Amino acid sequence: LPNAPHRTWEERDRSHLLHPFLPDSQQRRVVMVEGEGCVLRDATGREYLDATAGMWLCQVGHGRTEIAEAAARQMSRLEYSTAFWDFTHDRAISLAERLVGLAHPATGRAFFTSGGSEGTETALRMARNFHHRRGAPDRTWVLTRTRAYHGAGYASGELSDFPAYTSGFGPQPGHVHRLTAPYPYAHARSGADGPEDVTEFCLRELEEAIHRIGPHRIAALIGEPVLALGGMVAPPTDYWPRVAELLRAHGILLIMDEVVTAFGRTGSWYSAGQMGVQPDLTVLSKGLTSGYFPLGAVLLTRRIADVLGAGDGFPVGHTYSAHPTGCAVAEANLDIIEREHLLDAAGAIGARLATALAPLEALPLVGEVRQHGLMIGVEVVADKALGRPLPHGTYALADLIRDRTGVLVRGGPRSLTLAPPLVMTPEQADHVGTALFDVLSGHP
Ligand code: PLP
Repeated sequence: LPNAPHRTWEERDRSHLLHPFLPDSQQRRVVMVEGEGCVLRDATGREYLDATAGMWLCQVGHGRTEIAEAAARQMSRLEYSTAFWDFTHDRAISLAERLVGLAHPATGRAFFTSGGSEGTETALRMARNFHHRRGAPDRTWVLTRTRAYHGAGYASGELSDFPAYTSGFGPQPGHVHRLTAPYPYAHARSGADGPEDVTEFCLRELEEAIHRIGPHRIAALIGEPVLALGGMVAPPTDYWPRVAELLRAHGILLIMDEVVTAFGRTGSWYSAGQMGVQPDLTVLSKGLTSGYFPLGAVLLTRRIADVLGAGDGFPVGHTYSAHPTGCAVAEANLDIIEREHLLDAAGAIGARLATALAPLEALPLVGEVRQHGLMIGVEVVADKALGRPLPHGTYALADLIRDRTGVLVRGGPRSLTLAPPLVMTPEQADHVGTALFDVLSGHP
């Protein structure tokens, strides 16, 4: 039998699971079976220190029975009901009120999705549909940025700067224009762009793009307040306010993809306020439930919600939109973040991690260690003077750190990235620093 007990988890996995981004030639599997706080345990009993919070989502740490109990209570009472048409339920109403209440005052309503990709796809539909209904159907172009990640759907995949999603899959939706996202480390070392201030460079590019495409043909710009998959890169402080001002002047909507940055990751409920902007649409997921249930949301300003709610209403929905169990889990998660003051953690544990990681900057392999709250990027370089990345990225290095030290960090094309749970202890933060230092300095 294929699942006979004598077969190992690894063998059974290889027979029956197709993983994203895993070639069949790789035999090895890490079979996780349980977790508590920042520690995960695999099927062999080995422990790992999770400095990535899963996929950058587990704000409150693993194994919180309080959330499991909230899910069980909700499932016993009303496991599922829809929020299509005139149906609704108490959990969706309560969570929408709470999310809107935490956002900037122009925010009016929330629309629920099953995750981040569905959220960015929905925000894109909302932006185009908003203009269409206001008599500007030609506003279809979307501005996106280099190093962005907005999801794995056809539209969200094209918005992402992620060639794997656009090559080999036939035609793309189109009407997407990509601008340079500020990456101060790379910008300072790119001879082509000269010494121009990175914000000036990006703003000039944005202005030129608006002029070339025509402002009356552009629906929105989408961006992450801080690039996540792009290497945990925060822009200079004047970047977002100046971008937002230019967009507003041309009637172009600002979609903030806060799938990673919200719910304490950068020290506040949402990052846009910290960045000095009020987005028209905000996409949320991940930390909304700390990953205990798949759920996402799009927050809309009243101005947009009123247009989309008019007439026959907004004509897009998903079976699992506003899943009652997901909404109950989200509220239990937000309760923990509030009660344990986890918005402060980005500062406190962030500072401890900064100290623990500071010695890395002296190493020949490390170009810089950058940090915004609990989003951390370690730029790994083949050549420190020129800032050239390793030819094959940092994926193998992340595997080596995991295998040697048990610390989980994520590899990428240029950087190692860290985004630990907000409940990481000071001792665990120190351990992350030591583990990375030992491997990156070539200690056996
Ligand atoms: N947006 C950002 C910034 C992300 O990092 C991700 C996923 O990592 C997504 C959107 C897509 O979310 P999901 O994987 O839940 O579809």
